[in-house]
Amino acid sequence: MSQDAKIPFVDLVTPHRELQEELVDVFKAALATAGFIGGPMVEGFEREFALYCDAKHSVGVSSGTDALRFALSAAGVNPGDVVLTVPLTFIATTEAISQAGARPDFVDIDARTYTMDPEKLRQYLQTQCVFDPATRRLVHRTLGKPVTAVVPVHLYGQMADMDPILEMAERYNLAVIEDACQAHGAEYFSKKENCWRKAGSMGRAAAFSFYPGKNLGACGEGGAVTTDDEAIARKVRMFRDHGQSKKYYHDVEGYNGRLDAIQAGILRVKLKHLARWNESRREHARKYNELFAAAEANIIPPFEAPWSKAVYHLYVLQVENREAVQADLAKEKIDTGIHYPVPLHLQKAYSGLGYKHGAFPVCEKAAERIVSLPMFPGLSEADQARVVHAVVRSAKYTGPQNVLVV
Ligand SMILES: *Cc1c(COP(=O)(O)O)cnc(C)c1O
Repeated sequence: MSQDAKIPFVDLVTPHRELQEELVDVFKAALATAGFIGGPMVEGFEREFALYCDAKHSVGVSSGTDALRFALSAAGVNPGDVVLTVPLTFIATTEAISQAGARPDFVDIDARTYTMDPEKLRQYLQTQCVFDPATRRLVHRTLGKPVTAVVPVHLYGQMADMDPILEMAERYNLAVIEDACQAHGAEYFSKKENCWRKAGSMGRAAAFSFYPGKNLGACGEGGAVTTDDEAIARKVRMFRDHGQSKKYYHDVEGYNGRLDAIQAGILRVKLKHLARWNESRREHARKYNELFAAAEANIIPPFEAPWSKAVYHLYVLQVENREAVQADLAKEKIDTGIHYPVPLHLQKAYSGLGYKHGAFPVCEKAAERIVSLPMFPGLSEADQARVVHAVVRSAKYTGPQNVLVV
């Protein structure tokens, strides 16, 4: 590839070209039966995705946002509850909490993993809440509302530290709903169980998104809830289909939130390649790390804890002069992104929660310095070298505090 060819942030075209024949066959099969909603394609995908995630059940829904909302409601989150998550995530996490009728609240992230800091969660539960061991109810001191669930986000494909989160959830009677929308196939080493566990198999339930750019993406919208809990799976099936327990018998008011058959068929085709794609992403992450280390770059690379097998939905680094680095890379036709520039507690949409700058300092500092580099399974080594070269040239040296100490 020539030196000044564009390096995209993601390449969604090549994998579809490679799978074109199989994907078109899915469409033809759907046309042949006009089975567009539900049916064997959806059921087949649900079986295979549950197996892939080491979960007993998977229920296909219309998006990751609906997956989160349905999982929260099915796990017993009621209107008026407080649900905890992190301020560094896509807004869909908190939208789903609000749509379930609850009020989102935040605990800060760990500076290295960018995921929920279990110690901050502990502090929140111990200082902001009162627990009644008799009723096993946890109530927020100043809001006076029950705190009923926690949503750790496996951001960038990096697992949240689940052991301590699950342990606290157990102690304080909180439902854990994993936001695994960026983490299809990521794994966590549970010390408690002494084995590796898949994202989406650890909480009471988990939500996945199949938005086209995710590690497993549809050719349109899609999502899934995974769970080992039969009752939760049944409720999510009801919620996605107007609260029906059978046709035209509505136990509750539900939603139009189904996964359609063509998308399910497409996802079945792609699921067969997911493990290989994730391995490529991990390989590219290793390569980026190696090149940055060799160049002694003034950057902080992603940190993968020993208990995490990340799937690198995104490869995110920290630089001191982010805007300049992005501009320099843009000049060399290298696309970058920021995930995410404004923490949720500082978004206009959440001004009503009353948070000010400084409320979640770890997240706020990260949000000023993070930049996401091109990352997708087909990324070439030559392009990675070009990206690293450009970053190294542009990243400012501001002293030894900028060098990662592991
Ligand atoms: C993509 C994403 C969602 C929402 O998924 P949609 O399918 O777009 O509704 C939720 N949470 C996170 C962390 C995401 O990245």
